[in-house]
Amino acid sequence: MTSQFLPPQKQRKPKKEWSLQDFEIGKPLGKGKFGRVYLAREVQSKYIVALKVIFKEQIEKYRLHHQLRREMEIQTSLHHPNVLRLYGWFHDDHRIFLILEYAHGGELYRELRKTGHLNEKQAATYIASLAQALAYCHEKHVIHRDIKPENLLLDHEGRLKIADFGWSVQSSSKRHTMCGTLDYLAPEMVENKAHDYAVDNWTLGILCYEFLYGVPPFEAESQMDTFRRIMKVDLSFPATPHVSAEAKNLISRLLVKDSSKRLSIQKIMEHPWIIKYADPSGTCSN
Ligand code: AMP
Repeated sequence: MTSQFLPPQKQRKPKKEWSLQDFEIGKPLGKGKFGRVYLAREVQSKYIVALKVIFKEQIEKYRLHHQLRREMEIQTSLHHPNVLRLYGWFHDDHRIFLILEYAHGGELYRELRKTGHLNEKQAATYIASLAQALAYCHEKHVIHRDIKPENLLLDHEGRLKIADFGWSVQSSSKRHTMCGTLDYLAPEMVENKAHDYAVDNWTLGILCYEFLYGVPPFEAESQMDTFRRIMKVDLSFPATPHVSAEAKNLISRLLVKDSSKRLSIQKIMEHPWIIKYADPSGTCSN
């Protein structure tokens, strides 16, 4: 299979057939549903990447060929500082290997769990980065549909990278398929109604809340209760920790049941909370 991996240090032929021999494999970085991810170095250029190993047996068992193919094609076509690069892929008899940009900072989720919640500067910087990445994806007719802290990685400078395009779709029309993770689902997806780009805007509202309060807004004991709370938009802001009125205003304007009335990506980027707190460089430390 061909790939488009072009290490910046050494511009090679634009297309290359990669194989495992091209990489030195380092420490494991993590384990996902369908395989493991390793730190790796391309032998010639010494370029550091993350190599995701997926077992074909698993893909066949769950009939995910089309989804994986779609994920790979979409992610390869996206070039944005806040979207994790997929440089290319190759396979052997049993495994598929994805050559991914290495995100040194790991999962944003781990950061969030470690500190409980983020401060307003961090939260606003991540939301602004997400909004920019989504504006870019939407322009390319890609709806991510599964944005959640586990799918957000950080590079060595703390810059946010959207990863895992497994549930994304490339489309300019309304979609009907049910997918995504419960707590982050927009009402139109809970109801399995047609949905469009505005599902990602809803998710930004959920994430903004979770960044600042440490838990998603509609969390409940059972799935049914979460569904009910989403459908009612049963939103409340705990008294602690202290969160500014501007942040609550942004969240309330994203968590709107009628998708056509949700704040647009452009308006998110111009929102007073983002202007006040987001670091324009897209990087932030604690
Ligand atoms: P996944 O199979 O994509 O869910 O990945 C499993 C775990 O590996 C993730 O939760 C991350 O902690 C880690 N990981 C995945 N991709 C990368 C990457 N590009 N850079 C660094 N760590 C990664």
